[in-house]
Amino acid sequence: MPTPIKIASRLDPIKPSITLAVTAKAAKLKAEGVDVISFGAGEPDFDTPEHIKAAVHEALHKPGSGKYTEVGGTLALRKAIAAELSAVHKTTVEPDAVLVSNGAKHSLYNLFMALIDPGDEVLIPAPYWVSYPDMVMLAGGRPVILETKAEDDFAVTAQQVAAACTAKTRAIVLNNPSNPTGAVYTRAQIEALAKVVVEKDLLVISDDIYRQLVYGDAEYVSIAAISPELAARTILVDGVSKTYAMTGWRIGYTAVSKNGPLPLIKAMAKIQGQSTSNPTNTAQTATLAALTGSQDCVAQMRKAFDERRQEMVKLLRAIPGVQCREPKGAFYAFPDVSAYIGKKSPEGSILDDDVQLCDWLVEVGKVAVVPGSGFGAPGFVRLSYATSMDNIREGVARLGKALGTLS
Ligand code: PMP
Ligand code: GLU
Repeated sequence: MPTPIKIASRLDPIKPSITLAVTAKAAKLKAEGVDVISFGAGEPDFDTPEHIKAAVHEALHKPGSGKYTEVGGTLALRKAIAAELSAVHKTTVEPDAVLVSNGAKHSLYNLFMALIDPGDEVLIPAPYWVSYPDMVMLAGGRPVILETKAEDDFAVTAQQVAAACTAKTRAIVLNNPSNPTGAVYTRAQIEALAKVVVEKDLLVISDDIYRQLVYGDAEYVSIAAISPELAARTILVDGVSKTYAMTGWRIGYTAVSKNGPLPLIKAMAKIQGQSTSNPTNTAQTATLAALTGSQDCVAQMRKAFDERRQEMVKLLRAIPGVQCREPKGAFYAFPDVSAYIGKKSPEGSILDDDVQLCDWLVEVGKVAVVPGSGFGAPGFVRLSYATSMDNIREGVARLGKALGTLS
């Protein structure tokens, strides 16, 4: 019997991360010898490019590679990040306005902790990445969820934002391209949002972690680049996990423009200095190599993701009753499987919601997908196509076959 313990009440509303839970469940089954295909993790299957590893290998043999660095990241890395973000967002980001953390997840956590007072509201368009609402709640704030529709390509409108604002609204989270939907905002949509952000005096938390992964004629439009006024209101959250296949290195960063809220970055650095200190020294070396080295690897991985995206969407659409919008960015498909909710499995259980459906799919169908309700979108499931073409073909075939046995 474990020793009884009272856990802090601030954790009461907090759920475990479902993306990580599904991934862990698939990994456990695989370790037990079960042949499961996992579309769970939002993680490139590619290995970190060789030139990035080589830079770390070289640095390891120089003195100092095992030492602490500045809490917010080395100056060399912050300079490289500042240069890149200045160019992408057509603004001026100074190295002092960059904070490097242990993954973009950590960046967001520090950000909500530094920004949110109890009762403050943060607007979060749904479907949303699983961790935003829970992080806001951990900080004592109130996530205000703005529902979007598949038929509108999951874009939140300026009217919705305006209607949701109260005296307590501090910020809106803009995740573009979106995890889980793969939606990419058009320039017109970004411009409309920019207008309401100014009118309602909001900050934009711009989670751009997938900005380099856009396909076809879709284009990433930076809200910070719309005008100096928007640059001043935008907190840039970015990182190398997805673009450079560097999930395990755990480097993400936050930055503001020269005319932006620098005290927020300083406050976040204070939290980091009292909690984790600097992100891993050698992971910073790797990130510097990723940002300053050849970008061919990014183009190659993007091309592979695009081919897989097209194949996965084609196969999903061929399953009767499954509706799938075309994802234009990131590496997820987000089909509507509500036609299968409430149906009966051959084993006799009624699959009442998407969580039960996904549990059954992994147990019986041997295919792991993430329930949409974790993203605030019950009736949908998320599949990551950052996996091999063979896995995509076999895994979606399993999905179709399993769904076909429900009655
Ligand atoms: N934002 C979004 C939208 C994500 O999908 C992820 C994926 N983990 C993150 C932030 C955090 O990324 P990481 O901590 O690996 O840098
Ligand atoms: N962001 C990825 C995902 O959505 C990794 C898991 C996580 O951190 O949530 O699957």
